[in-house]
Formats: sequence, C-alpha cells, structure tokens
Amino acid sequence: MVVSLMWFRRDLRLSDNPALVEAGADGEVLPLFVLDPRLWGPAGPSRRAYLAGSLRSLDASLRERQGGLSVVRGDPVRRVVQAARAVGAERVHVSADFGPYGRERDEAVEQALADAGVELVRTGSPYAVDPGRVRNGSGEPYKVFTPFSRAWNDVGWDAPADAPTGVSWLRLDEDTTEIPEPRVPEGLELPEPGEASARRQWEEFLDRVDDYDTDRDRPDRDGTSRMSVHLKYGEVHPRTLLADLGARRSRGAQTYRTELAWREFYADVLYRRPDSARDYYKPEYARLDYDRPGDQLSTWQEGRTGFPIVDAGMRQLRATGWMHNRLRMIVASFLVKDLHVEWQHGARHFLHWLVDGDLASNNHGWQWTAGSGTDASPFFRVFNPTTQGRRFDPDGAYVRRWVSELADPDQVPDPHEPDADTRDLVGYPAPMLDHKEERQEALDRYERIKG
Ligand code: FAD
Repeated sequence: MVVSLMWFRRDLRLSDNPALVEAGADGEVLPLFVLDPRLWGPAGPSRRAYLAGSLRSLDASLRERQGGLSVVRGDPVRRVVQAARAVGAERVHVSADFGPYGRERDEAVEQALADAGVELVRTGSPYAVDPGRVRNGSGEPYKVFTPFSRAWNDVGWDAPADAPTGVSWLRLDEDTTEIPEPRVPEGLELPEPGEASARRQWEEFLDRVDDYDTDRDRPDRDGTSRMSVHLKYGEVHPRTLLADLGARRSRGAQTYRTELAWREFYADVLYRRPDSARDYYKPEYARLDYDRPGDQLSTWQEGRTGFPIVDAGMRQLRATGWMHNRLRMIVASFLVKDLHVEWQHGARHFLHWLVDGDLASNNHGWQWTAGSGTDASPFFRVFNPTTQGRRFDPDGAYVRRWVSELADPDQVPDPHEPDADTRDLVGYPAPMLDHKEERQEALDRYERIKG
C-alpha cells in the first residue's frame, strides 16, 4: 500500500475533487493544509475568518470519516516535505495552482520533494478548463472573451467525481497542528463556510437560476448566486455547477454559464500575463495622468463620497466582505474616472476586504473598468453614479439598506439625490465632486494618451 499526502489549497472539499480521488486510490492519505504566511498575512479579516471556518468544516467532514485535517503553519517548501517525511509519503497530490505565486511556490515544493524522493502529482485545477488550454486555430491565446468562451466550451470538461471511499486517513501528531480560530471582527457578517453550505446555497439558487439574466444586475434583489466565495476556496468545483445546469436552456442558465466562463477567461489571461496582476495589461494606460491617492481615496473607502449608490456599495463591502457585481463596476469607475486614482489602489482595497477576493477576477475586473484590460470597457464609457443608481436600484431599496442616513423614506424621499436640506437633516455628506466636470477631466486626460 502506498502512503500519500493530499495537500489541500483552493479545493477545500471532499466531493468532485480529482486530486483527492487520485490520493485515495493509493490507500493511506494524510490530508494537510499549510497556513502560508505569504498568503495569510495580506488576506484581510474577512478571508482569514472565512478560511479558518472552511478548514474547520473540512476537518469535521474528515472526522465523520474517521480522519481529520492536519494544519501546519510556515513556508510550504519546508512544511510539506516535513509532513511527507513524517508519514513516509511517496506522493504528494495537489490540484494545480495557475496563479503567479502558486506556480512558483509549487515548483519550489516540487524540487524540494524530489530531493527527498517524493513525487508531486498535479490533478485538475480550480477551473473547468485549466488555464493555458484554450487556444485559437493558430495556437495563440484569446484576447477577446466571446471567442474564448466558445472555444472553452468546445474543450469541455469531465463529469464530476464522487468523494473517495475506503481511504485510511492519517494525521500528524496533534501537538504540531492547529486549525486557527475563525475570528470574525465585530460588525462583519460573513457567509457560512464549508462544502455543505456551498451545496445548500447552490441548491437554493438553482430554484432562481431561470430569472438570473433579468435579476443579476439588480442589487436590490437577491438575484445572483453568491457562489463566488465557495468557488474561491474550492468548496465546490465549477464543473459541478456546470453539470447541475446540465441541459437547462433558459436564458438565466445560459447567462450563468457565461459568467463562469468570465472567471475562467480571467484566470487564463493572468496565467499568460502574470505581470497583469500589478501592471497595466495595455501598457499605454500607465501614461495616463492620475492623481496621487490621498484623502479622496479614504473618503471612497469609507463610503462618504456623497454619491449614495457608491457609498452603499463601499459600505456593503465593509459590512459583509461582498459587493454586488454592478456595484463593483460603479465604485471602480468612480475611483478611476471621477477621482482619477489608479486602479491598483482600488484593487488592493477590494482584496483586503472581499471574502471572495481573487487575484485574477479582481484585478482584471478592475482593469476592465479602467479600460486598460483585455476586452475591457472603453475608457470613454464613464458611469454616471446617479443614473446608475436610479436605473439598477429604482426604488432605492439597496441604498436605504446600506446607507443608514438615507434609510427613512419619510425623511429622505429621494435616496439617490437627497437635496441639501435633507442631507443636513440626516447628516449625509454633500457630493464630493461634480460628476460632469470630472467626467470631462477624465476624457481630456485620456485624449492626451490616445494614439
Ligand atoms: P454571480 O452573478 O452569481 O456569478 C456566478 C459566478 O460567476 C461568480 O461566483 C463568479 O465566479 C463568476 N463571475 C461572475 N461575474 C464575473 C466577472 N465579472 N468576472 C469573473 N467572474 C465572474 N469576482 C470574484 O470572484 N472575486 C473577486 O475578487 C472579484 N473582484 C471583482 C472586482 C471588480 C472591480 C469587478 C467589476 C468584478 C469582480 N468580480 C470578482 C466579479 C464579480 O463581481 C463577482 O464574481 C460576483 O459579484 C460574485 O457574486 P456572485 O457569486 O453572486 O455572482
């Protein structure tokens, strides 16, 4: 019988986990998670608390199967080799990581394991189609989403795999492992972590998926799936979601498949252009004249801009670690095109607070809005925050929910544009800028780099 180590990373589940199936086929398996200070450090309070909860949930599922999760802290290069040695593992199984840091880390771990006579086996990834696999007829990557998504669909994916059975689970000495406490800061309301919670959320959404295409753009409705955090931590695999959507042909189901394809597109773009995690995908945008971030950045971060829809989005982020997609676009546009601050400052703030914070989707979502990304929204398309609010939150329910000063309809009849007397009465700030002027300013700056 071969002893294996299953190194969990962004795949905190037992079902439909091909790497775990491979490990289980060996017979004896040590399930391991390494708390890597290089990821734990910058994670921010929402993701730390969520990850701790998700690890506890995975541990509980393994305990139900007479096993348990061993969690160690430190540099994975050292810790994975130590753990493999401790149980005499011949193989370490992982689901492949295609992110810039993950790839480098895995190469270093692979080398250190090889030196110790242990093999690193990569099976699957957090994506239906591994980044790098979708190519056009000339073998080149796609830069535009629609042809990518067609080719992605043509590549296709396997059916979901069952959870392994009949495995003998191993554990490290209890004294050397410790699952962190999920410390949720006061006032932060996070979704329930774990594979079972992901499944429940998904099943609840499947009842609404046919309305997804009409409801997804309405932050005042519960119209989206809220699966991003579960996908982020691999509590469910997108292949499972795609299989469940199966033959559904409603517009809602079709649109949902397309949104999952956007996640895969951005992972593919980041894989091919790791520099685009920090730098402009289109380098000419680095020449645009931006303002130095200062008070205007903190006003935006704190949701005190005086533009109700922007403030509602920023406050929802701080209160829940999540923000509706329409709002992510509105507040990002406001930072880059009204406040003239570079996208990286906003992306960093998002990654600090978002519970679903994901380098590829976040930084390319920002570059899409800033005009500098691949297949991005053109720079000259500047969102008018007030019109966006009226259009996507017509009754103001979303704004009232998140901006407490504007909650009372008797005091504030128009939550999207409260007049000066109302603002004084409820203590809500005046708009920090004139949108028309700043839009023109953004377009003038853009003119100077065009061509
Ligand atoms: P649903 O509408 O139910 O979508 C289903 C799934 O499709 C999502 O869970 C997600 O995996 C995927 N998806 C949907 N829209 C996008 C998109 N535009 N790009 C990539 N994948 C998408 N998504 C993240 O997962 N992490 C991030 O850090 C992140 N940052 C973003 C930053 C900006 C500036 C923008 C504009 C978008 C960002 N997104 C990010 C994409 C999108 O906003 C979220 O995936 C979505 O709001 C999550 O909620 P949901 O699961 O209810 O989405």
